[in-house]
Amino acid sequence: MKQQGQIIRSYGRRFIVECADQQYDCTTRGKRVDYACGDLVDVSVINKEQAVIENCCERSSLLYRQDDWRTKLIAANVTRIMFVTAAVPTPSEELLNRCLLAAEAADIEPVILINKADLPETADWLARLQPYRELGYTVITVSALHDIEQLLPLVKGQTSVFVGQSGMGKSTLTNALLPSAAARIGDISTALDAGRHTTTHAALYHLDEDSHLIDSPGLQEFGLSHLEATALAGLFPEMRPFIGHCRFHNCTHRAEPNCAIKTACDEGKIRPMRLDLLQKLTNRLVNA
Ligand code: GDP
Ligand code: ZN
Repeated sequence: MKQQGQIIRSYGRRFIVECADQQYDCTTRGKRVDYACGDLVDVSVINKEQAVIENCCERSSLLYRQDDWRTKLIAANVTRIMFVTAAVPTPSEELLNRCLLAAEAADIEPVILINKADLPETADWLARLQPYRELGYTVITVSALHDIEQLLPLVKGQTSVFVGQSGMGKSTLTNALLPSAAARIGDISTALDAGRHTTTHAALYHLDEDSHLIDSPGLQEFGLSHLEATALAGLFPEMRPFIGHCRFHNCTHRAEPNCAIKTACDEGKIRPMRLDLLQKLTNRLVNA
């Protein structure tokens, strides 16, 4: 029997698929692992608990990261990426930048979500992130423990994914957003989850009929080897006006003379750390 459903848990090689009135513990054909939480899939039912994923419907978006060897699918069919950060533990601004680039590449709107507003260290971190607001990104401050008011309108009607370093409060925020503890626990049948799977790679929750949330595991790195060197500058909104104005049409914005992007940086129109990142990523991509 064939059914359609959505992947609501990814364990790497196994998945839980939610169908109309049932969830199935699913394997894939030929050990395929190129499925992600949020994917809409066709499954063949084996018994009342198990099924096999046959294939995946076309995705409206796909967020993934790629290190030199491995591709990691993070979430499919999301409309919004929430980069969850906080002043404590030590946050990485480079990770934020990489995530913004991945969001631009996937054409998914990113939001920078600063959690732990209740901590005094937050003011400095917020000030450091001010330039991203100037780039046009939405930056909000919440406290998962006390007040998530600002977050509510941003998740409404969206399929959002939480990404970020571990310890920033993704799980706490997820719990704060879920309508009730019952929904959280009852979301997935205990029989399916009972000790069979060790690491959850990602989990999808329904906040309401048309608002969904995917919580993804903490990241320390965000490999971008999947991006095209020539397309990189276009992923930095502040660089876009200067693209095409360099002396060389195939300028890589590194050592070339009369580079419009480097000039803009010298004139204070582009922050040096963003140009450094562009150059560093370009070095990796062209030398790979
Ligand atoms: P995750 O690894 O991103 O899922 O982070 P967790 O949700 O597990 O949170 C990590 C730690 O930060 C836990 O000890 C939380 O209680 C704490 N935490 C989460 N949100 C807040 C917050 O808004 N304020 C404070 N002070 N601590 C928080
Ligand atoms: Zn250039």
